[in-house]
Amino acid sequence: MYNTIVIGAGPVGSYLAGKLAQLGYKVLVLDKKMAAGQDICCTGIVSKECLDLIPIDKNLIIRQASSATFLAPSGKPLRLWRSHEVAYVIDRPALNLALADHAQKSGVCYLFGTQVADIQAETDRFCVAANCREQKKLFEAETVVIAAGFGSPLPGKLGLGEISDFIIGAQAEVNISDHGEAEIYFDQRLAPGGFAWLVPTRDSKGLAGLLTHQQPEWYLNKLLSSLKTQDKITSTEAILGYGAIPLRPLPKTYADRILVVGEAAGQVKPTTGGGIYYGLVCADIAANTLHQAFQAHDFSESRLASYQKGWRARLGKELQVGYWAHRLYQKLDNRQIERLHNFISKNGIPQFIAELDDFSFDWHSELILKTLKHLAVAIPAQAIKPPIKHKATANSLNCQ
Ligand SMILES: Cc1cc2nc3c(=O)[nH]c(=O)nc-3n(C[C@H](O)[C@H](O)[C@H](O)COP(=O)(O)OP(=O)(O)OC[C@H]3O[C@@H](n4cnc5c(N)ncnc54)[C@H](O)[C@@H]3O)c2cc1C
Repeated sequence: MYNTIVIGAGPVGSYLAGKLAQLGYKVLVLDKKMAAGQDICCTGIVSKECLDLIPIDKNLIIRQASSATFLAPSGKPLRLWRSHEVAYVIDRPALNLALADHAQKSGVCYLFGTQVADIQAETDRFCVAANCREQKKLFEAETVVIAAGFGSPLPGKLGLGEISDFIIGAQAEVNISDHGEAEIYFDQRLAPGGFAWLVPTRDSKGLAGLLTHQQPEWYLNKLLSSLKTQDKITSTEAILGYGAIPLRPLPKTYADRILVVGEAAGQVKPTTGGGIYYGLVCADIAANTLHQAFQAHDFSESRLASYQKGWRARLGKELQVGYWAHRLYQKLDNRQIERLHNFISKNGIPQFIAELDDFSFDWHSELILKTLKHLAVAIPAQAIKPPIKHKATANSLNCQ
């Protein structure tokens, strides 16, 4: 009998498990993968604030960045910079390994190759049914945390609702010609509804990827061909990876003895699809909520509701404004994007961002609202509509 079973050994699950073990709880982490850090599709860009939260060796940092170039559909560049580093590219598989290793050293037990099929509430505990290397196993715990990433059916089975909108991330490791700074491409022909990127990593390697609402494989191949034609990469041969990324939060992230965190709860920046930092912020709130529940011996839904209140107070505005900005951008055509790009460049916005005292890589709502106040781009009123219902399921698209 464990105090807590965490489903998912991604960065969020392992970080939370480590926190709970440090508070003295007996924690088991179950993951369907055979080992931590396998099959990961992620660029690994995080902020300094994020790095400050995690107990990892600084060797995992591949690059630091204080600037990036944003390209309009015409190829016109716009450089944004800050006087000091704001983002770091980290070795993402190594991050998962390091967080799992740290949690294990704090006393957490791990069982890989264990896929949770069902969780059942009993009066004083939860029973977790899993397929563990072709055997059916049952585990018991007082509380369960679902940190199983996006696309897990478990929150839906528990009646916690569904995430109503998502985007697909597609990425490939490529050989690059120039080890300069990261480039971000805004072009609806390259990445409809999203954007594309080329991020140098190490040893003449880089990550080329995009966020799109449709045909990720086709658009990624198109991006690679375009980068090859421009001599930015040396070959279009690459292994392609995909993952669906939530754009909206799960309606309910708690129930009796249950919390949902990270991508499973939709705790992701809708502007960039980055989910590591927000997931860790919410894991801290989840660990505190569970600690208080253990101290009071009260795991009722009404006590655990403070978790959702806490993370909504911290992230709610960011998720709302970020999603609104995403929806607005999604409706722009290339001509409007080009005008927006010109406007930003001609109206001193790069300088304004360079000098902003409160610039943050993670908290975008204030920056969006301040920047939008300056923009006179005509955006049709129908741009903001309810989310599109996608036919494909997140599960069928997720690479994990
Ligand atoms: C192309 C792409 C690029 C990205 N780039 C960035 C970036 O630069 N920066 C950033 O912050 N974010 C980025 N992200 C998003 C980031 O990868 C995720 O937000 C992050 O991994 C979420 O962490 P998590 O721990 O919540 O879930 P995950 O990392 O998805 O971990 C969930 C774990 O649960 C396990 N699991 C699932 N179901 C079960 C089950 N039933 N039983 C047992 N185990 C289960 C899975 O095997 C997995 O190990 C990117 C995503 C994509 C697709």
